[in-house]
Amino acid sequence: MKPAQKDRFARHIRLPQIGEKGQQAILDASALIVGVGGLGSPAAMYLAAAGIGKLVLSDYDIVETSNLQRQIIHRNDAVGENKVESGRQTLKALSPDCEVGVIGYQMEADELRQVVDSVDIVLDCSDNYPTRFDVNRSCVETGTTLVTGAAIRLEGQIMNYQPAADSACYQCLYTHAYGAEESCELEGVLGPVVGVIGTLQALQALLILAGRGDALVNRLLLFDAYAMEWRAVTLPKNPDCPACGKA
Ligand SMILES: [Zn+2]
Repeated sequence: MKPAQKDRFARHIRLPQIGEKGQQAILDASALIVGVGGLGSPAAMYLAAAGIGKLVLSDYDIVETSNLQRQIIHRNDAVGENKVESGRQTLKALSPDCEVGVIGYQMEADELRQVVDSVDIVLDCSDNYPTRFDVNRSCVETGTTLVTGAAIRLEGQIMNYQPAADSACYQCLYTHAYGAEESCELEGVLGPVVGVIGTLQALQALLILAGRGDALVNRLLLFDAYAMEWRAVTLPKNPDCPACGKA
């Protein structure tokens, strides 16, 4: 590690759970961020600030004024720009050494699988079930670690699929392939709620990359922002899961 990096990441290196070895692993790592919105904003910014070597941003939306209340990676003057380009500019200003790749269109299954296979970890920061199930399936098929977050209204959740631990996957949560979809556009969401969950996704990813993150294996963490309460529920692997089951 170069002296400038030792200085920049001194507060990480001081932690016994990270140390120089963990920080080097973060510097050498790559992550795919699916969705550069409310969850993806803090997730990408914290990973870039923490020194991750490469981020791939995937999103096909443009920045709208109504996004700015929670999607803190985008500035007011980025309205009308592609989210991935706006995100890349913020990340390069924050952390110039972070390599940022962008995918500004909806990927087909084959390409998604290839991109997932090319990174060390995936953060699903998307806002719809079809994307979440596709990303989850690609992670199961390629044996790639996945951290999935979701938030709406004053509620959030986070879970983690770890192939090395043969853990429950995102789809193990659902008995049917598609539940009733809810959207922030219809239901609303208080800005910092997505900030909390996206930040936790980055936190969990950093611990995993440093070799220390198994706290969410087979656990789903639920956040009630109104009551300021956290709850963890056991998430068993479903043997009949359409994504990770034996069938
Ligand atoms: Zn599963």
